[in-house]
Amino acid sequence: MATILDGKAHAEQMLAEVRAGVEARLAQGLRAPCLAVVLVGEDPASQVYVRGKVKACADTGIRSLEHKLPVDTDQARLEALIEQLNSDAGVDGILVQLPLPKGLDAKAALHRIAPAKDVDGFHPVNQGLLLEGLPGHRPCTPSAVMHMLKAYGVPLKGTRAVVLGRSEIVGKPMALLLLEEHATVTIAHSRTVDLPGLCREADLLVAAVGRPGLVEGSWIKPGAVVVDVGINRVEDVALGERIFAAEPRKLETLKTKGGVLCGDVRYGEALEVAGAITPVPGGVGPLTIAGLMQNTLRASQL
Ligand code: NAD
Repeated sequence: MATILDGKAHAEQMLAEVRAGVEARLAQGLRAPCLAVVLVGEDPASQVYVRGKVKACADTGIRSLEHKLPVDTDQARLEALIEQLNSDAGVDGILVQLPLPKGLDAKAALHRIAPAKDVDGFHPVNQGLLLEGLPGHRPCTPSAVMHMLKAYGVPLKGTRAVVLGRSEIVGKPMALLLLEEHATVTIAHSRTVDLPGLCREADLLVAAVGRPGLVEGSWIKPGAVVVDVGINRVEDVALGERIFAAEPRKLETLKTKGGVLCGDVRYGEALEVAGAITPVPGGVGPLTIAGLMQNTLRASQL
């Protein structure tokens, strides 16, 4: 039976460290770090994420400024706000909640953020610094996953790691961070041939795909460490019956509540094979917000 990598508990620890860092600043007579969060439109999932980030700020002593813009905001208005926040010396970090409403160019907006304030780590300057192994803001999800893997003492040097997914937000930076720790990394994606065979070679498997239950228990090398970044809502009972065959409680929730959250990995099956695994929810999700708080504290120290 696999060890559960408790992302929630580890995130609490990271948040406590941030809280201590904020208190140390205040004790030196410095102001609290400040994160500006920009939300355009009323996407319900984005509202939930923003609420979570604002709450984490409150919990750690970071000041948060919420900027809510209407759904019909144009690119010029959004970028003008970003410029205003860039030049505000009282703001340390800027986060533009994604996805943006149709018609807005997310990349162009993100490129407007001053790299020093880019606490999501999505600006090309920060991505370039990551590629070069130089200090800069690292994307929150992969950097927090690394923080947790190190805390659990997961061996990284020389480890055969497979990262499923090649997004700029998770897959690519995750692979680079693992490479920095001397893992031997393969990035797999939608065009990869023989995904199950490749996964079976991995001592460390990171799934960041967004396909519920894609990774079957039989794809996992016995004893491997599995990090499941995917967050998917399943409402289709037929799909649920397939992917939750080894998780009767999840299937029950799906049937009674009409939907259930799950990762990219078939957790029940994986538990029997893996050496360690992150659950969904309660695994990587809470870590991401903790990574954001860490980046915001760091931004205030620049
Ligand atoms: P994305 O859609 O940008 O990228 C998905 C990647 O998966 C792509 O590179 C694609 O090539 C690959 N892919 C798609 N289908 C595949 C298949 N059948 N086999 C192999 N690879 C395939 O997604 P993203 O932004 O990287 O997010 C991935 C997942 O992680 C989503 O479920 C998202 O909700 C979740 N996520 C979670 C957190 C968190 O805090 N836990 C943070 C970010 C993203």
